Amino acid sequence: MSQQPILVINSGSSSLKIGLFNRENGDERQLVDGLADGIGGPAGTFVLKDARGEVLYSEKINFASQSEALEHAAQLFAKHSPIPIFAIGHRIVHGGPHLLQHQRITGQVLTELKARVHFAPLHIPVSLALIDRASVLYPNVSQFACFDTAFHSSMPEVAARFAIPDSLFQEGIHRYGFHGLSYESIVYQLDRELPEQLVVAHLGNGASLAAIRSGKSADTSMGLTPTGGIPMATRSGDLDPGVILYLQRVKKMNADALESLLNKDSGLKALSGGKSDMRDLQDAADAGDAGAQLAIDVFCFSVRKVVAAYAAVLGGLDMLVFAAGIGEHSVRVRAKVCEGLAFLGVALDSTRNEQNKTVISSTSSKISVRVMSPEEDLQIARHCRALSL
Ligand code: ADP
Repeated sequence: MSQQPILVINSGSSSLKIGLFNRENGDERQLVDGLADGIGGPAGTFVLKDARGEVLYSEKINFASQSEALEHAAQLFAKHSPIPIFAIGHRIVHGGPHLLQHQRITGQVLTELKARVHFAPLHIPVSLALIDRASVLYPNVSQFACFDTAFHSSMPEVAARFAIPDSLFQEGIHRYGFHGLSYESIVYQLDRELPEQLVVAHLGNGASLAAIRSGKSADTSMGLTPTGGIPMATRSGDLDPGVILYLQRVKKMNADALESLLNKDSGLKALSGGKSDMRDLQDAADAGDAGAQLAIDVFCFSVRKVVAAYAAVLGGLDMLVFAAGIGEHSVRVRAKVCEGLAFLGVALDSTRNEQNKTVISSTSSKISVRVMSPEEDLQIARHCRALSL
């Protein structure tokens, strides 16, 4: 067994995932899974688990920033494991138009990333701070950037272009797509079963779909930013641009107010009148809450519409994969999405669906329907290992 652990750093809006991976039998295996949650708030937690999910360490602790949480984790790792870190991998949501491949972080990469902060003003500064802190905590250890947009760099121009002036396209205003590490990991896991025409529905709090032809992205629902595409927990998804103009002119909203409305107060939360979590929505709908039912209906309608559109993009469909929190666990959402896809040849086995089996389509279904777990951090570790060799 090689003893060269890779540290994977994956930051969310108020959380930080920190994983340690090692190489075993030709693939990466997670040794430690760390999560700092509630960052910036009054009820923070920090938990470390081992490879089997057993809690190794748990405490209530408030971190002011993701970088502070990283420093805390680094101190704990150093105390409990004498093995030096071999490489560090960062998940980076957006790298702008010129950083579209996973790569070693150099001075040039940092300069480019700093120049592109406006593409993801809430995310890129956090990533820059984490890279900086990691270089102090682990001097001389190579760091790598893995971009959520990289997988979609294979999209043809016809899918990537917005119908706006070319000068804006030249500035980098086009569809990038996100959840790329999740899609890559599904393609990796399917391995020999990877079909030519695949649609993956990554349905978590953030949700998107990708049309994948022979393992490469052919189209995806998110656009310039992760606010686009289908409605999500608190994000609006695609809107008629006229809505934004109305909000600016009539409601006098500026960019910050719009950013907050469209990212934090829209989507399922807005449709239901306050609930954004699918479990809560399902419970409320069962209790007769019409707003919750509407939110679920709009969500499933939107997913179904994109699946059918992507069957057209791919010229057919061999397999549909449901992934992430809602995709992996909501029997109801999967059933409702597939209900309208019978015309494509999708037929669910309701018992298998209820049991959350890997294959949930019936034996007579023309299209294989599956439930799979994205392995984003593992995918980052794989890239880091390959790039550092
Ligand atoms: P994130 O994008 O934050 O990583 P997740 O992939 O964890 O999100 O997905 C969170 C969503 O998954 C929530 O809406 C949650 O309600 C939903 N979810 C988790 N478990 C279940 C379940 N058993 N049934 C229905 N929805 C579920």
